[in-house]
Amino acid sequence: MSDALLEEFIRQNTEAQTQPEILFTWHGGEPLLLPIIYYARALELQQKYAHGRHIDNCLQTNGTLLNDEWCQFFREHNFLIGISIDGPEPMHNTFRQDFEHTLRGIRLLQKHGVEWNAMATVNSRNADNPIEFYHFFKDLGCKYLQFTPVVERTNPQQALESVAQDSKEWTKNASITTESVEPLQWGRFLTGLYDEWIKEDVGSIFVQLFDATLANWVGQPPGLCSMSALCGLSPALQPDGSLYSCDHFVFPSYKLGNIHHQTIAEMMYGQQQQRFMRTKVDSLSQRCRECAYLFACHGECPRNRFLSGNENYLCEGYRMFFRHVSPTMNFMAQELAAGRAPSNVMGMS
Ligand code: SF4
Ligand code: SF4
Repeated sequence: MSDALLEEFIRQNTEAQTQPEILFTWHGGEPLLLPIIYYARALELQQKYAHGRHIDNCLQTNGTLLNDEWCQFFREHNFLIGISIDGPEPMHNTFRQDFEHTLRGIRLLQKHGVEWNAMATVNSRNADNPIEFYHFFKDLGCKYLQFTPVVERTNPQQALESVAQDSKEWTKNASITTESVEPLQWGRFLTGLYDEWIKEDVGSIFVQLFDATLANWVGQPPGLCSMSALCGLSPALQPDGSLYSCDHFVFPSYKLGNIHHQTIAEMMYGQQQQRFMRTKVDSLSQRCRECAYLFACHGECPRNRFLSGNENYLCEGYRMFFRHVSPTMNFMAQELAAGRAPSNVMGMS
């Protein structure tokens, strides 16, 4: 991204925000391939346009390029670092092969006191071992855990492009990769991990999907677009200034425009993006519309709705999970309503 584009992006993104706190998320590719000076310049530009508002920065990396210099910079400027790591070495290296360097990066962040969270993908390999997966992160000192299910199709461009428009079209041809998690495997992973977390870690280890589920249980915004009623306000900016509806939909028909010609606010509040956001609710399957857990799931991410009738591929796993957590979610919701800590759930027998 050129300096001019960086400044235009930061100016527009900062000016478009109405709240007192603004978050910038840097991800790639691999954002550490850029020099530190690039981020130092970004911070300078953020201050130029902040007008007294508070700006936070989050950066997502595989951690392999971290060194003392990066960590000092991140500590000094309070970056939150998201590390892509899929569990202990045999799990991580099944599909990535850089465990040793990633772990070294985490140790450096810890040495310098940089806040970090783990961002795992759940695939056909690690999904069978939720307890081992969970304890690996717990033993590593991880306080914030995010994970995303791997669901990939063999003809992804055609499949993804058509998902919000005509799901029948691609189902004729697409199939699931061997890396992808299976629906019931996903359900067993979620319930196994939840049971381990709820024993003694509620309130001390934050698992994004569980927090989002509880938020939906009490009618609060879940903070996770896949669990929200509408698609999120998280567009993807490309190096040439093109803006797309979502980083899972960087295809020509989801291009909103270019920040050299229109403002981010114009594109985000324009008809095309509003339509994209509503597609999540408008394209719900009949099964979702009648589902007892719609309030918690919202049909999950539209990119996974590729079974006939527009049903979500992971649905059976989510149903298993929501059914399993209902009693404890109900309890935590009651505790919150009574002004008590949801962590009291750990005393439930
Ligand atoms: S398509 Fe999926 S990832 Fe993109 S905003 Fe919607 S829920 Fe989020
Ligand atoms: S659990 Fe299944 S049917 Fe229910 S809302 Fe989620 S995807 Fe739809």
